Amino acid sequence: MINCKACSCKFSVLASQRAHELTGWAAGIAAAAWVIRQGAVGPYHLWMLATVIAGYFGGTAPDWLEQIPWRKNKRWCTHRTITHWVPGWVALLYAANAGLGTYWFCAPLFGFAAGGLIHLLIDWPNPLGVPILWSRHSLKLWKSGHADSFVVAVCWFAAIWIADKLLFGSLHFYRALAFFDWS
Ligand SMILES: [Zn+2]
Repeated sequence: MINCKACSCKFSVLASQRAHELTGWAAGIAAAAWVIRQGAVGPYHLWMLATVIAGYFGGTAPDWLEQIPWRKNKRWCTHRTITHWVPGWVALLYAANAGLGTYWFCAPLFGFAAGGLIHLLIDWPNPLGVPILWSRHSLKLWKSGHADSFVVAVCWFAAIWIADKLLFGSLHFYRALAFFDWS
């Protein structure tokens, strides 16, 4: 168990890791819906499945990319610097999107980039923030790991909403709205 630096509570760091994994899956699902929309699912929907899985890995990537693989708990760069650079992940998403339907690997790459961007979005509200352009910026809303349930719920809701919009023209969303409309 690692203590949270901000307030020395016991759960923070690990809980955040879990939140990044769960929101990575959500990003992968939303990205896969876009891949389906672009007709880039591949044989037996293989590239679509790869997109979902790559979303999971992308969701934690900004953190594990800064680790030196053969040295435990050692980083090659400062935490939340180059691997958390927003324009880098946006460029990756853009490039992967441009190659959808032409190169098979662009589908999983798109999922990976979507997962990475969600990771940055989740890191953004806590005090350390993320490097948007040159310097780090923080929304200063909560400490790392302190709003995980909320963050995960919002991301999953957004992912389902995006998938429904892209694949079914928001059919299920409107049905759900109608269900709650008793006027
Ligand atoms: Zn991070």
